[in-house]
Amino acid sequence: MTYRFTQLQAFSRFSLLLFFLSFLSNQNLLHAQYFNTPGAKIRDFEGVFRIDSIPITVSGLPLKIDSSFGLAKVCLNIDHLRTSDLKIELLSPDGTSIWLTNRNGSETGQNYMNTCFRSNGFNGYIHSGKAPFAGEFIPDGRMSFLNNSQNPNGIWYLLVQDLAAGKKGVLNYFNLEFSANPNPNSGLGGCSFESPELCRMPEKGTALLPDLVTLPFFTDNQIKEYPQDDQNYPGQLKLAISIANLGDGPMEVFGLHEWRCADTIVDSTTVCPDGKKARQILYQRIYSLSENKKLSYTDVPTNSNYYDDKPGHNHYHVDDWVEFRLVKVKRGRKGRVKHKEVIAQSSKISYCLFDSGICNDNDNICRFENINYGAGNLANYGLGAYSSCHSSKQGISVGAYDTYGMMYEGQFLTIPKGTRNGDYLVEVELDPLNKVAEKNKANNLLSFPITLRKQVP
Ligand SMILES: [Zn+2]
Repeated sequence: MTYRFTQLQAFSRFSLLLFFLSFLSNQNLLHAQYFNTPGAKIRDFEGVFRIDSIPITVSGLPLKIDSSFGLAKVCLNIDHLRTSDLKIELLSPDGTSIWLTNRNGSETGQNYMNTCFRSNGFNGYIHSGKAPFAGEFIPDGRMSFLNNSQNPNGIWYLLVQDLAAGKKGVLNYFNLEFSANPNPNSGLGGCSFESPELCRMPEKGTALLPDLVTLPFFTDNQIKEYPQDDQNYPGQLKLAISIANLGDGPMEVFGLHEWRCADTIVDSTTVCPDGKKARQILYQRIYSLSENKKLSYTDVPTNSNYYDDKPGHNHYHVDDWVEFRLVKVKRGRKGRVKHKEVIAQSSKISYCLFDSGICNDNDNICRFENINYGAGNLANYGLGAYSSCHSSKQGISVGAYDTYGMMYEGQFLTIPKGTRNGDYLVEVELDPLNKVAEKNKANNLLSFPITLRKQVP
């Protein structure tokens, strides 16, 4: 009896200890953990590529962050006289980075006033907000990419770039919050490379093809005409473009380090005799899903990529990705289109392909041809994961979009001098050289009316 009692006692002491230990670690999981860092000056743009990196040390957290516990919120306070000069990224200890905000706030917006970024930011997307930015916003990148099972203990960096000269600023503080359920609205459908059994076959055949479209939402909200005598943007029509993948499978391209100047094999850093950068041959990976839910793929040649060093870019761009045009339409009787004249045309612009946001059923960002896209109507919603602009692999997941804001370098058409005010069309054409395999090539042209008011009366 005594013997049994002692054993029981020992056992209960042991379980008490276990309980206490698990209580401690649950405390760690249940309670938000905060890490703060004081401010730093943000240097003004001086024509060269430069990043101000502000470190923050994280310690004492569980050895893994994921969808159950991870980075939930990033807050900062910045005094800056023109927030659209700024590109702000967060770099984690394993080298993964996301965009928090990139050149938002239009031309005159000032200050990030205690601005927080989280997956379900109450005030909506930062790119749709107005400066001064105050409160909680959804960032320009996906925070879930950082909760990727990495060890969060180590040094994180806030990377700040001022990309236009003339206005200065200062970061007053920034902090990180780690807590339970950090990506509450990521709501992915479950279909992934790891779980192909949850993916669905397309209506026809087995190939999971992407379907790229330009979302009207972004361009409608970010387009601006400048007069010919504007100091900064003479005669420009600046516009945002966001390209979504509403298809059955991811848009994915990759390279095998085959760099060329015309037909000559070169090093990736070579500047070719024509002054252009060396190009890497790219392949598009097309996934297929068999009847027994196995994923396979075929690779086909597609556009090239190269290192783009324009301010704010400094990453790899896929060539010939989009083209925009300003078109004058001459109409005959009954309003019929008699003649279309292209007044201005961009070059075939290159983009970095990555998931800068994901379509949600509860906002109208991914509304296209009167359908709102999201987890509810995209069979393989979430398939893919493309977090950055590396040379080796880029892409756009199913139900994700890739945004180039109005204030980014290169996002404009030059309106020719002497162009008259009046009604025109803007055309945005995706994949103008027809090099990408897609489910539907007929929806690659977005066309909308515009009235010019700042040109010749
Ligand atoms: Zn870029």
